[in-house]
Amino acid sequence: MLTTIIYRSHYRDHVPVTVLEDMVVAANKKNSEAGVSGILLFNGKLFFQLLEGPEESVRAIYRAICEDPRHHNVVELLCDYSPSRRFGKCGMELFDLRRYDPEVVLQNVLDKGTTKYQLTYNDRSLQFFRTFVEESEKENYFELPSGEQWDFIADNDAPSVRSLTRRYSEVCNFAFQPIIDPLAREIVSLEALIRTPEGAMSRNWFEGYVGDELYEADLKSKSVAFAMASALGLGDQSLSVNLLPMTLVNVPNAVSYLIQEIEANGLVPEQIVVEFTENEVISRLDEFTGAVRELKAAGIGVTIDHFGGGFAGLLLLAQFQPDRIKINRDLIRDVHKSGPRQAIVLAIIKCCTALEILISVVGVEQPEEWMWLESAGISHFQGHLFAHPQLAGIPPVSWPEPRDTF
Ligand code: C2E
Ligand code: MN
Ligand code: MN
Repeated sequence: MLTTIIYRSHYRDHVPVTVLEDMVVAANKKNSEAGVSGILLFNGKLFFQLLEGPEESVRAIYRAICEDPRHHNVVELLCDYSPSRRFGKCGMELFDLRRYDPEVVLQNVLDKGTTKYQLTYNDRSLQFFRTFVEESEKENYFELPSGEQWDFIADNDAPSVRSLTRRYSEVCNFAFQPIIDPLAREIVSLEALIRTPEGAMSRNWFEGYVGDELYEADLKSKSVAFAMASALGLGDQSLSVNLLPMTLVNVPNAVSYLIQEIEANGLVPEQIVVEFTENEVISRLDEFTGAVRELKAAGIGVTIDHFGGGFAGLLLLAQFQPDRIKINRDLIRDVHKSGPRQAIVLAIIKCCTALEILISVVGVEQPEEWMWLESAGISHFQGHLFAHPQLAGIPPVSWPEPRDTF
């Protein structure tokens, strides 16, 4: 299938620009053998390239491009399919934007288009050329250093690192994972994640329940989370717990139960945050919204979890505004390499900034994901990069340290 890939990248400063022409000649030979054609733009700092050809060849060449040390921060902007080549006439044409007017370049790009393929300004690919040439998205092109520039070393001696020896319940257990502000070196909150008594994953615990039993068990398990947090010596540290939205709707007096259990364990409502995990549609939205109001009236914080994944959507933000949202791992996996993910995350940030809603991100595993998200303006993170959840304990945090480059 005829495939188009567009990417942009940052040129590595230490490579002399004079090698550019040779580079294009060499690439051209390789590309034409593989039946891949396209256009390359360079503005002295950034590359922008469209590749088109048979799917396998385009993907193979793109993979090689991603590995090329002469550039970095390669971000895929578009991957699309079309009936015929947009730029069938040329092999791989290079335009140096420092030498021409934006309008001239765009006209040239249009002229290179094949007549059979109706190249119009409605074409997404062509719109990407325009955006790049006119630099209208420039502020979103974050230049990230290599992930190797950071060390992540577990702080085993931190006073927060603790674990419990006694078992607190026969029906469930909890693992705790910090949500941190890496640059401020601050633990923002601890999230209690449910486990089976033996410590198996949350999904194994959920499998033990059917129908309405689950909601009752979900609510009751929170008293175990509060007791464990209290025994861990939480102090005034914030604690986040998860609840299914329908737990609040289906179980009578759920909010009063929570408040009572918080206080019975020597905690205060203001240090508790409830994260709504949305694995099902909220079918009784009015009742749910009512319960959220009760939580807030008691001083308990509210977060929409898994934002952007599955059901948790923009519509919920219209219904009520939580204090915080957590962006789902599915959206931020490899965010530093993906134009679509970057666009979505930037839109979420814009929306939440307008509403003064704090954003945190779960599932950060790679230094580059973290660096991109920091550049985008997010400062609260949770993920294996910093700390794994620890059963019945508070794990050490691996704070990022700039690596000595001498
Ligand atoms: P969540 O609230 O988004 O919790 C974070 C999940 O991501 C946890 O999975 C955690 O172990 C995992 N995680 C954290 N960092 C990383 C990372 O860097 N990479 C990857 N791949 N995963 C990471 P866990 O504990 O299996 O929980 C899954 C979900 O189960 C939670 O997602 C939450 O929605 C739900 N859950 C957990 N405890 C409870 C509970 O007490 N009640 C309810 N209703 N739901 C719960
Ligand atoms: Mn959660
Ligand atoms: Mn999750």
